[in-house]
Amino acid sequence: MTGLSAGWLWAASLWLGLGLVLQAWICARQWQHLAGLSRASDTAAQPESIGYGQRRALFQWLVYLEQCLRVAFWLGAGALAASFQPFSTSGLAGALLFVVVFALIDQLLRLLLPWARWRWVDRAYGMSRMSGRELGADFLRRIGLQLVIAAMAAVWIVWPLALLDAPGGWWWSTVALLTGAAALFWGRPHLIEPLFNRFTALPNGELRDRLQAMMQRCGAQLEQVWVVDSSRRSKLANAYFAGLGRRKRVVLFDTLIAQLSPAELEAVMAHELGHYRCGHLRRYYLLQGTLLAGSFLLFGLLQPMIAPGLSSIVWAVAAYVLLPALAWPLQPWFAGLRRRYEYEADAYAARHAERDALVSALERLLKNNLGAPTMATAYMLFFATHPPADKRLLQLKL
Ligand SMILES: [Zn+2]
Repeated sequence: MTGLSAGWLWAASLWLGLGLVLQAWICARQWQHLAGLSRASDTAAQPESIGYGQRRALFQWLVYLEQCLRVAFWLGAGALAASFQPFSTSGLAGALLFVVVFALIDQLLRLLLPWARWRWVDRAYGMSRMSGRELGADFLRRIGLQLVIAAMAAVWIVWPLALLDAPGGWWWSTVALLTGAAALFWGRPHLIEPLFNRFTALPNGELRDRLQAMMQRCGAQLEQVWVVDSSRRSKLANAYFAGLGRRKRVVLFDTLIAQLSPAELEAVMAHELGHYRCGHLRRYYLLQGTLLAGSFLLFGLLQPMIAPGLSSIVWAVAAYVLLPALAWPLQPWFAGLRRRYEYEADAYAARHAERDALVSALERLLKNNLGAPTMATAYMLFFATHPPADKRLLQLKL
């Protein structure tokens, strides 16, 4: 007994099946595209980037398969309703315990895929520098963190729902969900990320002076530039902007600093600043927040039709499993938006730093991060949050 209406269960299965088949086809296109690149004699692709890209495409599909399998297990097979049973008579404390037990089992189920990715993708191609023991320690930390977040979410979102298991309860829970997500977003750089990496302020010197001068030219205040010790975990080189308002910060990977010249780092930083100045972060988080709140509320209001036999608390937890899996058609929309942001940030960087330095930085990063210069069109449209390197470089050289 799943507590879900049979018709709805069929419709959801078809929807997920369609997503699985479509994504399998798209990932297979990328696999073939890369195989074609390795055969072409005039290609600029490095041999390792072909195999690495193919396995990444496979894992892209496996991520969706995992989401579907979790839906099948928790909702299709009724594991969610069954695990609520022992707690159903214990009131609010029971509801809280149920959420924590669910989070623990769900996290354990989700360990296999990152382990397989580490084993057959990142470590196999020398991108990961972690040992099995370090990975295990990371997993433990992650589970602990998830349990704390689940307990807080239960208190914050599920309790109001249980207290207000009447018309209006879902509205309160949605408000709670949004404020909880905002708090998590705010706390992430300060409370969560330091659990996994060490962040240090960029020391005074030529690089800092250069970055400061560039930021001043752009009319921005250099608030915080942090260096993260990512080289302990991975070879990947990157930089990102996080937070909003006075809390905003630029984070440079130490692997990036080790590889790029000061002029190239300045250009990368100008690109990151471009994301901020063009309002990309603000718009993206606003969009995500609206979609999250809207879909959660709709999900709750539709419960009498879809899941009349389930407790509201179980249904709220089901949203966590089900909504990301159902939302696959949004993926190309999000990816397209982010690719547009990348072009805008590149254009901003070309105006405020040396264009040639950005070109050489991108070329160096492509090589270091084992990126392929081109992508299958379907794969790019559906998944790529960054434009393929050839298109991006062409745009910069215009
Ligand atoms: Zn970017």
